[in-house]
Amino acid sequence: MQNALRQSQKMEAVGQLTGGLAHDFNNLLAGISGALQLMQMRMQQGRYNEFERYIATALGASKRAAALTHRLLAFSRQQTLMPKPTNVNRLVTDMQELVQRTVGPAVRIEVVCVADAWPALVDASQLENALLNLCINARDAMPDGGAITVETANKWIDERVARQQNMAEGQYLALSVSDTGVGMAPDVVARAFEPFFTTKPIGQGTGLGLSMIYGFAQQSGGQVRIYSEVGQGTTVSIYLPRHYGAGATELEPDVAAPTALT
Ligand code: ADP
Repeated sequence: MQNALRQSQKMEAVGQLTGGLAHDFNNLLAGISGALQLMQMRMQQGRYNEFERYIATALGASKRAAALTHRLLAFSRQQTLMPKPTNVNRLVTDMQELVQRTVGPAVRIEVVCVADAWPALVDASQLENALLNLCINARDAMPDGGAITVETANKWIDERVARQQNMAEGQYLALSVSDTGVGMAPDVVARAFEPFFTTKPIGQGTGLGLSMIYGFAQQSGGQVRIYSEVGQGTTVSIYLPRHYGAGATELEPDVAAPTALT
């Protein structure tokens, strides 16, 4: 749980860091295009002897830009997943208090766990992080307060649905976070998984939450889906592959729900 909070704070820091990196990157691009423009002018004037200097400038800036993108890539690769058979009902119940404290008293977290949830093969700390992020988004979508429902369900994705939803056929444990907030217009849904896409004011949104959740779900062999209607609310569901075989029996028994923290 503490890990989830640390991850969330880290993401805020990353948002600030990447904002700075984007600025540096833009400056380097400006340097490269400036050098190319000068070369174009000198070419028209037949002053080819000056090319060497501009080429050196452009090459130097490209090298620094490459170093910047390597730093970003190194960061994104830090997310090494450690999938293990996980009792998602228990994870959700254990997280409830922290999530409630994080979103504040204006919204109420309600947990609805399916009685015999399938164990999921997933990195539990990444899932905690995803849950916290989804609940923060749900809270932000309800400025006047309300209830957030966190729900688990066993989902059998058959061939037809698999084709429709562009995911592999099979059995999944679905973790859904629903709100009755402002909802998302179709163009926002279409872009929501893009890194750095945010509709929130500067300093409030990093635009990294859903993109990281998307990457995490994909890497876990699952999917993430957004169901939203403007003015009605939003549900984001993470589908995690069911775990079969050794390990599943060691999990704690499922917690019967629903429960609510007020
Ligand atoms: P951030 O929350 O930092 O903006 P995200 O990647 O988590 O970044 O979300 C991207 C965008 O998707 C948000 O800025 C918002 O416009 C939209 N969004 C995400 N979750 C919700 C939600 N529950 N209700 C309405 N809009 C949402």
